[in-house]
Amino acid sequence: VSSSPRLTVGVFSHHERSFWVEPLTAALPDHVVVDGSEPHDHDRIDVAVVGNVPTEGLTSYRRLALIQSLWMGVDRFLDHPGVPDHVPIARMVDPGMPRAMAETVVAHVLGLHRLLPFYRAQAATRTWAEHAQPFASDRTVAIMGLGTLGTAAVAALIPFGFRLVGWNRSGAAVTGVEVGDFAWVLGQADIVVNLLPLTPQTTDCFDAAAFALMRPGASFVNLGRGHHVVDDDLLAALDSGHLTHAVLDVFRTEPLPAEHRFWTHPRVTVTPHVAADSDPRSCTEVIAQNVRRVAAGETPAHLIDRQRGY
Ligand code: NAP
Repeated sequence: VSSSPRLTVGVFSHHERSFWVEPLTAALPDHVVVDGSEPHDHDRIDVAVVGNVPTEGLTSYRRLALIQSLWMGVDRFLDHPGVPDHVPIARMVDPGMPRAMAETVVAHVLGLHRLLPFYRAQAATRTWAEHAQPFASDRTVAIMGLGTLGTAAVAALIPFGFRLVGWNRSGAAVTGVEVGDFAWVLGQADIVVNLLPLTPQTTDCFDAAAFALMRPGASFVNLGRGHHVVDDDLLAALDSGHLTHAVLDVFRTEPLPAEHRFWTHPRVTVTPHVAADSDPRSCTEVIAQNVRRVAAGETPAHLIDRQRGY
């Protein structure tokens, strides 16, 4: 018999009830789960499970003890006027997501290594021409951000034999990776993969100066956030031929506006923010555990540091 109080969990997401509300209801039989898109009493909600902050904000929810993000990256909450300052925020650490992100990184790194975007462009003009085939061990891949997702990408890349370099904030060692400062890491790599969180320190970090540090002919893969990149500077680096290709999954404005040059640029691959999604099959239990921790008066897992920004 549980002695913990019965909590009310509000779910704020654009998904239908069957996506989050129903699995969470099944996982939390001792608590009440309400769909935030339906009428509800703000004063009863103890935990807000949030994908999209509701338009009226969360500041009128006076009982809130936890904001549980449905996203690994919490940048959208930190500068949001509708998110109360005093309520702790837990990010989603989905055990399924590192695997999905590692697959995406491997797919793009191998694609660039094996020149797939290049041959796709050649095929459009029915051009039959072979190009040099370096070994993976001839190539250096940079992973910018060596956290949950960056280290999963590293583990997945190691078997291919690429030389791996990387950047983090602490300078902490990561097995299989030569960790260095921003300029050194960018200067080493043939393929640069961004997996940083968006913080005041990392906003616009891929600008003209950063692209100039990259090796001539390098490629860039952005799986972090759109605001890491100064779009015009990236386009200039591609137009000049300094960079060979960019794979972009995230954008300053999403959906990417129809008139944006990224859509039609011959050296850009666009994907619609699909590198790795939070999946209820693996996330529901993560959320349920945090609700139980709050009910038991324990500290929730995966709280973010608001000062640090991630
Ligand atoms: P995480 O575990 O918090 O790791 C963040 C990494 O970035 C850490 O290695 C951290 O360094 C480093 N870092 C942070 N600020 C830095 C700075 N100012 N300078 C240098 N390094 C810095 O985050 P994660 O779970 O790996 O997720 C990373 C990001 O991926 C998310 O924030 C989100 O934006 C993005 N994402 C994208 C998708 C998609 O579908 N495209 C899906 C999920 C997530 P330390 O190790 O020293 O702390």
